[in-house]
Amino acid sequence: MSTGSNKPVVVIEDSVISNNVKELKSMAEVITMSPYAGVDKWIIAVKDAVAVIDRKMRLSKEVLDAAPALKLIARTGIGVDETRIDLNEVRRRNIVVTYNPGINSDSVAELTVMLALSIYRKLFILNRYVREAKWAEGQSNLGNQIKGKAWGFIGFGNAGTHVANIVKSFGCSINAYDPYLNKQAIVERGGNPLELDALLRQCDIISIHVPLMDSTKHLIGERELNLMKKDAILINVSRGGIVDDTALYRALKGGKLRGAGLDTLEDEPIHVTNPLLTMDNVIITPHIGGSTHEAVIAGAELAVNEVVRLLKGEKPLSPYKL
Ligand code: NAD
Repeated sequence: MSTGSNKPVVVIEDSVISNNVKELKSMAEVITMSPYAGVDKWIIAVKDAVAVIDRKMRLSKEVLDAAPALKLIARTGIGVDETRIDLNEVRRRNIVVTYNPGINSDSVAELTVMLALSIYRKLFILNRYVREAKWAEGQSNLGNQIKGKAWGFIGFGNAGTHVANIVKSFGCSINAYDPYLNKQAIVERGGNPLELDALLRQCDIISIHVPLMDSTKHLIGERELNLMKKDAILINVSRGGIVDDTALYRALKGGKLRGAGLDTLEDEPIHVTNPLLTMDNVIITPHIGGSTHEAVIAGAELAVNEVVRLLKGEKPLSPYKL
């Protein structure tokens, strides 16, 4: 809620740190909000807002309805989907959404590779053994190399190709399924094009890098998990909901997969009773793939800049096609 100054109101998430905020504050009344503050507090905060800088908060219809003056949602990251914004509402009201394609691909790629290596080398199990003074048990718990393994990419855009560039140097073969890229484009990005079922059947490490849309909801469910090799691993660093988490738990419990690395889940934050938490061969991180200091600062700079441009009457630099 505005304090009554005549400046336009901008709501910004508290983790958005940028040198440009100083300029923004000279032009606008800036209200800082935690994404965990609760919808009630957001409804009050956005009342007079012309722009929101969004990192983690879901801007639901309820929140958007409370913001009749809203013209711009500036995302710090790259995902523009229902986990972040009520897309019907922004389309209906012609609210501009800006985003930052590729801004966090290096960070996502590094986490993806780390999850795969950690599962292959049983990193967290070994670390636990050592802490429990079970040195010998740890020493007999051998993992595997990823050298020579077939890596399969579901989605071969920015994040997928960044991972591919890294794991090529580990000696992995690069295979990709991406129906929006023609085969030649996949080859030019260093991948061997495969259809989804073939990729699931043939690859040892499968990582998912697609946006969440109606067509990708539960893209990986029971049928697809059943096609995977018994010793394959699945890494999801894209969005919760692309993998059917219940089917994944059943597959892991039934010994149909070697393991899974999950940065994103259908239910975020995860509930302590989620059965995936009981599995030793699952590593879960709290949707942090794109969030390193470097990526967060870079995304914040660009998002704040989009708001400054709006306030100066300039066109957005990176509007998302809604
Ligand atoms: P991108 O837009 O560069 O690439 C996405 C690729 O997916 C595109 O090449 C597209 O053609 C392909 N694709 C779309 N639908 C597909 C389908 N049905 N099957 C296979 N491929 C399909 O995006 P990116 O930077 O590579 O990121 C991918 C997704 O990862 C984002 O949409 C975002 O939701 C998520 N993400 C997560 C984090 C995190 O913190 N975990 C950070 C950044 C991005």
